[in-house]
Amino acid sequence: MPDLHPAPAELPVEADAVIIGAGPVGLFQAFQLGLHGIHSHIVDALPHSGGQPVELYPDKPIYDIPGTRVCTGRELAQSLLEQVAPFQPTMHLGQEVTQLETQPDGRFLLATSAGTRLLARTVFIAAGVGAFQPRALKAPGADRLEGGPLRYRLGDPAQYAGRRVVINGGEDAALDAALALAALPPPQRPAQITLLHRRDVFQAEAARVDAMRAAVAQGAISLRIGQVAGFDTAPPEHHEAADGDASPLMTAVRVLDADGQERAMPADQLLAFLGVSPRLGPVTQWGLDIERKQLRVDTESFSTSVRGIYAVGDVNTYPGKRKLILSGFHECTLAAFAAAELISGQPVHLQYTTTSPRLHALLGVATPQRD
Ligand SMILES: Cc1cc2nc3c(=O)[nH]c(=O)nc-3n(C[C@H](O)[C@H](O)[C@H](O)COP(=O)(O)OP(=O)(O)OC[C@H]3O[C@@H](n4cnc5c(N)ncnc54)[C@H](O)[C@@H]3O)c2cc1C
Repeated sequence: MPDLHPAPAELPVEADAVIIGAGPVGLFQAFQLGLHGIHSHIVDALPHSGGQPVELYPDKPIYDIPGTRVCTGRELAQSLLEQVAPFQPTMHLGQEVTQLETQPDGRFLLATSAGTRLLARTVFIAAGVGAFQPRALKAPGADRLEGGPLRYRLGDPAQYAGRRVVINGGEDAALDAALALAALPPPQRPAQITLLHRRDVFQAEAARVDAMRAAVAQGAISLRIGQVAGFDTAPPEHHEAADGDASPLMTAVRVLDADGQERAMPADQLLAFLGVSPRLGPVTQWGLDIERKQLRVDTESFSTSVRGIYAVGDVNTYPGKRKLILSGFHECTLAAFAAAELISGQPVHLQYTTTSPRLHALLGVATPQRD
């Protein structure tokens, strides 16, 4: 995955607000902060925003978002992104926040798995049920190949030029990867692209499935129905990895085909997209008050036990807490007021988006003329 990540900056990026988690609540937190003139940086372990609704139920209907009769998980994320767009939050995707430390001047230093460092005046933990991590492939010998011939992220598609690539999975991420490789111009394109899925039914957006079927019909992608049963590898002494990668060389993926027979499919690279599972991990190690793996907050400001660090959405707990998107939206509204007062050092009065020229200016919309 190193190709995804920029080199660590010398000095941390200074920020008024850093939001950990780009789920629905993290996105709405950035919107609420924007209404106070506070710019946000948002970090998420996933390579895209949307949290649980996009990762766990992208095409399922949600019926209890205020003012929206029904929308899918993916549509909710899309409209939250459109709503926050005027405030242009800086997105740091595909990286987990691993460290959060209070500095002597009261600010907070955050570090991510990609080496990004942020020095923040306020932090909003909107980490939901945890950072989503790719599910590992369970097949004999898989662990020895991870990071080399077996990967869980696509990275730079050009690195697979001329190679025989097998993509395992039936969800959006697998189809996206196969289509991205098939779209490369010939010198950069893999020699062979095979999409391997356990059945000929795909849990992906209809348009993606159509595009994949068209690419299969044109011969750009081969579709194979079966499961990974193991690997054929060359003994380590038979190859010397140029980049110091100590993984054995993979020569074939062993596939349990739909007829129950196991066969070797010659391949150099396996990209497995088997969904994700959440891991709360580092959030529990930042010295904040915790109750049954959730952050304790007060319900006036949604502050954690550390002043300047707020917790909103599924990650927090308080008497009467309900893990609903609507509850998270309320929480981040009050947290934004509290943070605005902390940053400005003065009381912040409520203004309506309907009538406030200041809010109109922040939103980049025209103030209606009086009659
Ligand atoms: C099947 C299903 C159906 C649901 N239906 C409804 C419904 O109809 N209505 C409703 O109100 N709610 C519903 N929910 C609940 C709803 O999805 C959650 O309440 C909501 O997603 C919480 O939003 P969040 O932003 O707090 O957290 P999440 O959506 O979990 O997002 C948190 C994000 O933080 C990231 N993250 C965590 N830790 C880190 C870290 N250290 N570094 C970087 N990133 C990190 C994660 O990768 C994730 O993207 C449903 C849930 C499920 C599972």
